[in-house]
Amino acid sequence: MAKKQVVVIGLGRFGASVARSLYNLGHDVLAIDSNNERIQGMMGHVTYPVAGNATNDIVLRELGVPDYDTAVVAIGSDIPASIMACVILKTLGIGYIVARANNDLHGITLERIGVDKVIHPESEGGTRLAHNLFNPNLQEYLEMAPNFGLSRMRVPGEFVDKTLKELGFGSPRDKYGLAVLAIKRGRDVTLNPDVNDTLRTNDDLILAGRDELLERLPS
Ligand code: ATP
Repeated sequence: MAKKQVVVIGLGRFGASVARSLYNLGHDVLAIDSNNERIQGMMGHVTYPVAGNATNDIVLRELGVPDYDTAVVAIGSDIPASIMACVILKTLGIGYIVARANNDLHGITLERIGVDKVIHPESEGGTRLAHNLFNPNLQEYLEMAPNFGLSRMRVPGEFVDKTLKELGFGSPRDKYGLAVLAIKRGRDVTLNPDVNDTLRTNDDLILAGRDELLERLPS
């Protein structure tokens, strides 16, 4: 992927992990937080860690923010500061702005002022937990539409050494009503696996389907 210039504002747990991951993926990351200690903690983990108030447009101009392609506003609890930072970033002409919303009203406000993508990490985390709570094999869940999602599931013991066909995935006698998109084995991923592929201990299945069918998988 081409190297991007990204500014990340607010380095709580969420913002810091976004900033670090972007930097590790090879992008140029300017990380801004008003708290100096948080900035100290980012030394060596992003390209430019800078202490500054993101609700001050002069500060952002002086840091060269107008030259950045993308901004991530990860300020959570200080909603006015989050909104103000987004308005300034819009005014500075940043092409793509992603912001974290603390609640629904915050999210709607961010959309209204032209934020390109609003994320709700807390409620998305909550949805994931609800789906994973009673099936320890379900490692991740991503909602694609109401009642429809993608799951990464650790292969349960009773699936080990069986083929997808023997287990009843796919035609002719589709037992689960789920699409098997991939099998992940260590670092290898087999996309669109064959029904004759055999599952091994510690494999992960990437499945898509209706929630009620995903929940029926053995735990
Ligand atoms: P998380 O839930 O991600 O751990 P948090 O609970 O530590 O975050 P938040 O209130 O969401 O705290 O703020 C995230 C970060 O945003 C904090 O490190 C805070 O210092 C920073 N921040 C808040 N207001 C501003 C601002 N005006 N300019 C720059 N940074 C700010």
